[in-house]
Amino acid sequence: MEPLRIGVLAVQGNFREHVQMLRRLGAEAVEVRKPDQLDGLDGLIIPGGESTTFTRLMHLYGLDEAIRRFDRPVFGTCAGMIVLDRNHLGLVDLVVRRNAFGRQVASFETDLDVAGLSTPVRAVFIRAPWVEEVGPGVEVLAEVAGRPVLIRDGRFLLAAFHPELTDDTRLHELFLESVREADVVRA
Ligand code: GLN
Repeated sequence: MEPLRIGVLAVQGNFREHVQMLRRLGAEAVEVRKPDQLDGLDGLIIPGGESTTFTRLMHLYGLDEAIRRFDRPVFGTCAGMIVLDRNHLGLVDLVVRRNAFGRQVASFETDLDVAGLSTPVRAVFIRAPWVEEVGPGVEVLAEVAGRPVLIRDGRFLLAAFHPELTDDTRLHELFLESVREADVVRA
């Protein structure tokens, strides 16, 4: 079986940890800094970082339009979740609130029950967003304090936390599975 080719948006933020995790899982990881680097990819990860910086740099390099045209599965984590919502790239039918957990608990770790997984996922939240409003097609896979923090909307998987910062590879595996399924549909 050919390894999957997964792009990781690498303009800023936590892209290296995603690249390492993808390689650990046997995928080919490609750092994406220019629009043409999206060509031929099976999927894309948009990492955590600073969403305002992402928005500025994506626009500067023409990556915003290129990501809008990209029609493969996308995994967004933290800032990567923010830039996909209705108020940014507008690709996922939800509204995200930045830095939602407030100053006191800006960063924390918790064991998260995730729909479909038999044991909890250790989730690292760093100045994390939560989901304020979801459209009807959006599937909520995990919540903290009644707020969605892991969702699926068709080919999009979004996490408010950082699955690339722990040794637990299950969410990346879940994403790679959806990439493989999308490849089957395309073939
Ligand atoms: N607070 C950041 C933002 O608003 C997101 C933090 C993160 O990605 N770890 O973009």
